[in-house]
Amino acid sequence: MNETMTEPSRQTPVLASADVLVIGGGPAGISAAIGAADAGASVIIAERYGFLGGIPAICNMEPSSWCRQKNTVMPGGVQALLEKKMLAYGAAEEPLFQPSASYNYDTEMLKFVVDELMEEHHIRPVYHCLVTEPYIESGAIKGVFIESKSGRQALLGKRVVDCTGDADIAALCGAPFEKCNLGRDEKEDMMYGTLIFGASNVDISKVRDNLSIHPEMLDRVRHEFISDGFSKARADHYPIPPNGFQNQVIFNRMTRGEVTAINRVRVPVDGNDVLSLTQAEILSRKEALDTLELLRRYEPGFEDATLRQFATAVGVRETRRIIGNYQLTLEDIIGERKFDDSVGVYPVCMDGPKLCRSAMTNAHFQIPYRIMIPQAVDNLLVAGRSVSATKDATHTTRGVDFCMITGQAAGIACALSIKDGLPVRNVPVSRLQEILQHQGVRIS
Ligand SMILES: Cc1cc2nc3c(=O)[nH]c(=O)nc-3n(C[C@H](O)[C@H](O)[C@H](O)COP(=O)(O)OP(=O)(O)OC[C@H]3O[C@@H](n4cnc5c(N)ncnc54)[C@H](O)[C@@H]3O)c2cc1C
Repeated sequence: MNETMTEPSRQTPVLASADVLVIGGGPAGISAAIGAADAGASVIIAERYGFLGGIPAICNMEPSSWCRQKNTVMPGGVQALLEKKMLAYGAAEEPLFQPSASYNYDTEMLKFVVDELMEEHHIRPVYHCLVTEPYIESGAIKGVFIESKSGRQALLGKRVVDCTGDADIAALCGAPFEKCNLGRDEKEDMMYGTLIFGASNVDISKVRDNLSIHPEMLDRVRHEFISDGFSKARADHYPIPPNGFQNQVIFNRMTRGEVTAINRVRVPVDGNDVLSLTQAEILSRKEALDTLELLRRYEPGFEDATLRQFATAVGVRETRRIIGNYQLTLEDIIGERKFDDSVGVYPVCMDGPKLCRSAMTNAHFQIPYRIMIPQAVDNLLVAGRSVSATKDATHTTRGVDFCMITGQAAGIACALSIKDGLPVRNVPVSRLQEILQHQGVRIS
């Protein structure tokens, strides 16, 4: 790694520099960093929290590939690498919702496992830093400014991958993007946010017994646990906490006396608005406790349940999407479209309020490189849930494994563009595909 301390300005010291700067350490960022490092680049990954993992780790989101079934075509690459390591640590378990073939991750172990991955791939993480501004020269991004307990500093990179999930860097660079409304028009609404929480002192055998008597309580396709506690509560005129599913909770891992991730609360949130985020946190915590009280009263096994944890932050599902060189559509997904610039495959599955479909067959589509290329700025790629896609396509493109493929491809493309001395938009796709395949990614 190049540690030369050149200053972009007298006031702002340079903390470090590398070939590739990855901003945001979620599924896309982790994959971008590994993809770039394995393709020969020095890499820094900058993250605002004290750990990597993104939504899965921040929000205790356990089943990253919940859509996956026996015949599902999986992308491979970093997704498979991470899964193998989580299994080796005993940190991934089979799902409650058989015959699903996904795993539920222990989202605390995930943080540790990803630290190890970074070390093994010689990637330098910088935690506890919020990237606040791009450093641009002649229309090309050359680094970013960060704010942290060390004050304002700069990180320099020859190429930058925006994996913030919010397209923060692309937007600050002036790249065009789309974003839905908050509660104005149902069709164009941003998806709700969720604060996942966990419960201790749960009688797991009683929960399991109840499930075996009432198998209809498990929606195996949507991975939802349909709690009959809600109907009992309703019959009793007990108030159902209003901001959430009205007849169900979703949970995945059940360990010794604990249900670690209860996913029920749904609140409106704009993840780019600090006051909206504040309000969502406060409302969600109240709603989570009210839900726990309902479960205590009406759900067998939860009689003595206590709060185990609130997730680190409310989970934001949707914010900005760049308008890139191509916009992926729902028709592309359902039509199993193939692209010349494919950087990976992803199963035909959706996870949205109105569109939910598991990957029951081997149907899959190809992901075009162009959805990661923003307009109006050079040296920058965008990976993860803010790639260029239409609103209805985001029910697919926000999937963790989808985000990982785009990350890995973006990381490799950056390394390749440095090697070849080309802008990222002109990277030779055949070479990109060659390296992706070499790194274990299925591209067709
Ligand atoms: C409650 C919830 C449940 C979900 N359930 C599922 C599911 O079951 N299966 C599934 O596949 N998907 C699920 N998703 C969607 C999925 O988790 C996300 O779409 C996916 O994690 C996006 O990955 P990403 O890497 O693009 O962004 P993220 O996971 O959001 O990661 C972005 C990272 O960047 C960091 N960051 C952001 N801005 C900055 C900045 N300015 N400076 C420094 N760091 C920054 C963040 O802290 C974060 O670590 C769920 C989402 C939510 C919210």
